[in-house]
Amino acid sequence: MPFSTQQVRLTLLALLSAALVAGCTVDARVPAPDPADGPAVESPAAVEPEPEPEPEPATGKTGGAEPSGEDEVQLVADPTAIDVLVNKRYALPPDYVPPDLVEPNVRFIFDEWHERRLLRAEAAAALEEMFAAAEEDGIYLAGVSGYRSYEYQEMLYTSCVSTDWAELADRYSARPGHSEHQTGLAMDVSGSTGECAAEECFAGTPEAEWLAAHAHEFGFIIRYPEGKEHITGYMYEPWHVRYLGKDLARAVYESGLTYEEYVQRHR
Ligand SMILES: [Zn+2]
Repeated sequence: MPFSTQQVRLTLLALLSAALVAGCTVDARVPAPDPADGPAVESPAAVEPEPEPEPEPATGKTGGAEPSGEDEVQLVADPTAIDVLVNKRYALPPDYVPPDLVEPNVRFIFDEWHERRLLRAEAAAALEEMFAAAEEDGIYLAGVSGYRSYEYQEMLYTSCVSTDWAELADRYSARPGHSEHQTGLAMDVSGSTGECAAEECFAGTPEAEWLAAHAHEFGFIIRYPEGKEHITGYMYEPWHVRYLGKDLARAVYESGLTYEEYVQRHR
């Protein structure tokens, strides 16, 4: 007997609640918080049911043939491209590790070494420049989570999602290979206290407002804008900045478009 939509959603919400209580996020995009980390789990809202993303045309950025079905996943043509588009449709290869990961010299909300300190060299330099500029404005930013390897996300995913309900969870969650964090070009940012790190309450903070106003000046965009989850696939994440380089970030910012829309219109 097939599930009704309402039954599916109720079942999913119950399973999500169980996973969150267990310290897992179903979309496995972030590690479970370590005690020293402070809050490091992205908003549970990020995995709430959402409308299907709008179909996108294949672009030079992603290469390959036009997807024939709305669920068809394509590997990106060039994972190393600074302007690579990664989302629920366009995936990175499992064995892709960015070639030039470095640790930016910035404040983090945790002390220990972890791969999530890393970014690609160009993005790391831009992040250092952005954090320094913020401090000149009295805004003290901190890194929460940068690079995440495919293997790390896969480990989290498989430990958090039982095979019994993975099919349900997949309707609303990102699998390994579909996270921008694997590009080494994305960083979750909080204030220096770590309060509201990667949580909904970060929205509206002076740090969030500074990022929204200035991130593009340093080559970053707020990748998951408010009210655009039907396009980006994710709820509003004012903390998640994606490096595109200064020219492209400014163009995307000034267009008012999501990156999905921008790529569709300009490539
Ligand atoms: Zn993020």
